[in-house]
Amino acid sequence: MNEVNKPKKQLRIFYFAVLACLLVFNMVIMPMIANAQVKETDYGTFMTMTNEGNIGLVQIVETENYIMFTDKEQKQVYKTGIVSDPGLTERLHAAGADFKGEIIEQPGIFSQIIINWVLPMVFFVLIGQLISRQMMKKMGGQNSMMFNMGKSNAKVYVKSDNGIKFADVAGEDEAKESLAEIVDYLHCPKKYEEIGAKMPKGLLLVGPPGTGKTMLAKAVAGEAGVPFFSMSGSEFVEMFVGMGASKVRDLFKQANEKAPCIVFIDEIDAIGGKRDGFSRNDEREQTLNQLLTEMDGFEGNTGVVILAATNRPETLDPALTRPGRFDRRVPVELPDLKGREEILRVHAKKIKVEPNVDYTRIARMASGASGAELANIVNESALRAVRQGRKAATQADLEESIETVIAGYQKKNAILTDKEKMVVAYHEIGHALVAAKQSKSAPVQKITIVPRTSGALGYTMQVDEGNHYLMTKEEIENKIATYTGGRVAEEVAVGSITTGASNDIEQATKLARAMITRFGMNDEFGMVAFETVTNQYLGGNTALACSAETQTKIDEKVVEVVKAQYEKAKQIIIEHRKKLDQLAQYLYINETITGDEFMEILNQELTVQ
Ligand code: ADP
Ligand code: ZN
Repeated sequence: MNEVNKPKKQLRIFYFAVLACLLVFNMVIMPMIANAQVKETDYGTFMTMTNEGNIGLVQIVETENYIMFTDKEQKQVYKTGIVSDPGLTERLHAAGADFKGEIIEQPGIFSQIIINWVLPMVFFVLIGQLISRQMMKKMGGQNSMMFNMGKSNAKVYVKSDNGIKFADVAGEDEAKESLAEIVDYLHCPKKYEEIGAKMPKGLLLVGPPGTGKTMLAKAVAGEAGVPFFSMSGSEFVEMFVGMGASKVRDLFKQANEKAPCIVFIDEIDAIGGKRDGFSRNDEREQTLNQLLTEMDGFEGNTGVVILAATNRPETLDPALTRPGRFDRRVPVELPDLKGREEILRVHAKKIKVEPNVDYTRIARMASGASGAELANIVNESALRAVRQGRKAATQADLEESIETVIAGYQKKNAILTDKEKMVVAYHEIGHALVAAKQSKSAPVQKITIVPRTSGALGYTMQVDEGNHYLMTKEEIENKIATYTGGRVAEEVAVGSITTGASNDIEQATKLARAMITRFGMNDEFGMVAFETVTNQYLGGNTALACSAETQTKIDEKVVEVVKAQYEKAKQIIIEHRKKLDQLAQYLYINETITGDEFMEILNQELTVQ
């Protein structure tokens, strides 16, 4: 069933009803009324009335052989047949009758058709059009019980002028920069069309919950001044099979009509999850297939830009993320110290705050909090101020509400204690230091110790210079050493080891194993493949293909390789212990250190020594 055709169908029924009414009215009721008004008489009565001067209007219809006339007061209409009567006209004139001749009845049929049929039809067609337009508008807008069943209830039209702008989204500069291009395109698509550039059809906003993904999507629409359609992935998947697919179809149909516009699909992982081939969920797959079809269907330059948000990008079906669909990924990370401070300030504008509040201090205390949590913290502080009978929130209110909010979130999100933060700082600097000191390892670009919801408590962004397709054995070994560097730094500087290195251990082991089983980089085994990649496009799992004894040997070799690199990393860390302390301290205080800052401190120390 195509719901969009519904109003048309209803319109047709409406027209039929009108036509039927007109038929009944004109064929049955009108003649009855007419007959009730007209009184048939004989010619004699007509003559008598004429002679008595009791006559008003007279109409002689010669073509149909009858005369219509009224009495003097024109209260009653009479009808009589025509009789040959030569002096009639003079006598009527003498009686003071008002002649109508045949003028009224003559154009009769024609004007009757126009008055009784055409005009009413035109009138009702106009009304019908008006109603149907109203219906269309409603369909586009809020839910209307009658016309909304099964259609996409995309919430449309967060009208752009009172909508959200980029300025309302604090921090997230990288994300805003990526999205600014879309805004520019929506403003002035010509510039892009002229050169032949196509805008990406879809952008994927990836990041933990509450970091402002929805806000950013709205802000794009707000900045560009275009309509904003939003729908949550879970809304597509409904009880009835096939509804999801039809909703997707409708959403895109509406969007195409309103282009240029933004379509925002929140929680896209609800429909865009990997089709693993084992468990089947027909409804979800149909919906996903429809989405893929729609995205392929429209041209890149129609002005419809699809933004989708997810906090589980790794679960998305590869078909969704391939070029031509959601080919661009915009990370929306948890805010760092500066970002947190900005977010606090943005939200503090909405409440009354004492002027002497130290936002930096609060931002530092709320390490790891998301934008939504920070907004909540500000709101809680206002509530607390009211509770205590104050007119404005104070520093103490804000600090207190950090605990209120965070206590509730502690399990979900990692808010680090001071000691943990210190350990993480050492750990991350350990990675970077080992990387920097091995000539062939890529230099670090940025280190942060803002906890990621992905589980990592810190993060080192390395940058490969130029395209890099081949890796030498030495490079792989250095990489393994870098992975172990975090744990080594903990051991050397803090004196105890933590669980924080679990991901590093996994990665290092994987690399070491691949060296032996797939890359032929072990002298004893040589160029023999013990492992094959089973499904490269869905996850890249591997399967071992060798005897049990070989497996044991491989395991031994893996341990050997990793241990050797661990020792190498330990040497480096011990040798540069002072720099480790200094850098870790810097990172602990600032939470973020860029590659340049890192190298500066590293080299500075070198000259001092
Ligand atoms: P997401 O879609 O990433 O889960 P939302 O965009 O829905 O997050 O954000 C939820 C709320 O958190 C917003 O309404 C806003 O009040 C607050 N918020 C989140 N990030 C920011 C930010 N960068 N600047 C200002 N407010 C933010
Ligand atoms: Zn690590």
